[in-house]
Amino acid sequence: MVGSVGNGLLDLGGREKVEPLPKEFDPEEIVDSLLHSESNIVGKEEDGTSRKIVLGRNVHTMCLEVKEPEADDEITGEREAYMAGVLARYRRSLIDRTKHHLGYPYNLDFDYGALIHLQHFSINNLGDPFIESNYGVHSRQFEVGVLDWFARLWELEKNEYWGYITNCGTEGNLHGILVGREVFPNGILYASKESHYSVFKAARMYRMECVKVATLVSGEIDCTDFRAKLVQNKEKPAIININIGTTVKGAVDDLDLVIQTLEENGFKDRFYIHCDGALFGLMMPFIKRAPKVTFKKPIGSVSVSGHKFVGCPVPCGVQITRLTHINALSSNVEYLASRDATIMGSRNGHAPIFLWYTLNRKGYQGFQKEVQKCLRNAHYLKNRLKEAGIGSMLNELSSTVVFERPKDEDFIRQWQLACEGNIAHVVVMPNVTIEKLDYFLRELLEKRSHWYQEGTISPPCLAAEIGEANCLCFSHKN
Ligand SMILES: *Cc1c(COP(=O)(O)O)cnc(C)c1O
Repeated sequence: MVGSVGNGLLDLGGREKVEPLPKEFDPEEIVDSLLHSESNIVGKEEDGTSRKIVLGRNVHTMCLEVKEPEADDEITGEREAYMAGVLARYRRSLIDRTKHHLGYPYNLDFDYGALIHLQHFSINNLGDPFIESNYGVHSRQFEVGVLDWFARLWELEKNEYWGYITNCGTEGNLHGILVGREVFPNGILYASKESHYSVFKAARMYRMECVKVATLVSGEIDCTDFRAKLVQNKEKPAIININIGTTVKGAVDDLDLVIQTLEENGFKDRFYIHCDGALFGLMMPFIKRAPKVTFKKPIGSVSVSGHKFVGCPVPCGVQITRLTHINALSSNVEYLASRDATIMGSRNGHAPIFLWYTLNRKGYQGFQKEVQKCLRNAHYLKNRLKEAGIGSMLNELSSTVVFERPKDEDFIRQWQLACEGNIAHVVVMPNVTIEKLDYFLRELLEKRSHWYQEGTISPPCLAAEIGEANCLCFSHKN
């Protein structure tokens, strides 16, 4: 069975021994149905060629049905026992899936045990964080404390910023781009083609004109192409999404060069920049040589995901913008006795407490140490892959290691690798230790020797995705 080690028990660092997973969660079965399901769709590349996209398995084949309680359930206790069994199995599968996770940028290492008693409350921060609504079971005091911390990090005065704790990084992008659109109603949205899909979703939702900008091999926005596209649209203001870490390659767009390009081409005072820091927004400030994200530069908003680098049991994010912009967007809602400037109505009031708890515990220094560890471990992984003859790339300011897509979907699922075309990536987060990487590498190398028959078959060429210098296919090896 996949996921079991040696004696069939999962070794969880001595903390807990767990039996092999039950049949319902058999990854082999999942992969089998995945490969034979109808959910493989054909995507179109920009050059018009088609590419097969493997969709995840349709959950309907394994969902847990809701059953009507029987009349005598309360007496027999059968229902309780059934539900307890389902939950126990589920918990075991979560432990296994957490152990074998490398592809998504989530820090899965946290302990919020101290907050367990808050589970009994329906904490909701509906409306504006800075204006108390009539609903009293809220956590605004934590939320505003967290927002102040982020405003300070990105150098915006307390009385000059506005922000809120969102439900995810996507909501931050939806908000930032909406603010941009309200500031420049006829502005064109520019975003590199490697921007997160939520940026293009925002353009569709708001029916904004959207121009995709080319990228360099690193994944950064190509400012030569940006200039060319700006010049073609001189009559309309520019709203730009800047990536502080792209989803696939972890590339950091050159904010200063983007600003310079705008100003040199007649866009001074006619642009709005939203920084999508979902991935590295909280890592960049701790890397000395990284370009600085700060409101001292002419940017309009910054967002970050709370459940990625920080680590949080529920998805969440932070959005910070300039107070002056928010007045353009908000309207007052009598029902809430509040101001309506958020995307969502009800907002998770537990999330701010999780963030507040971690920020207090770790502080700047704690984060700095974790960032350094992530970068070190990412280099370790990249070097080991290279030594093993596997084409790979690691951007200078990034902990995302991009490499050749493993040949079988089973392995990809097992390690929950995110893939795009020929490439896969591992995002090294604080919970990804050297031991975990070694375990992954051992499995990868063993399987790979079969895929490429002990090195007699060339692995695919990745020059287009990661550059010739990083590619180790037979034609680029030397
Ligand atoms: C993850 C990510 C997002 C979206 O964040 P969610 O919290 O998943 O909604 C946006 N942009 C980038 C670059 C990301 O990596």
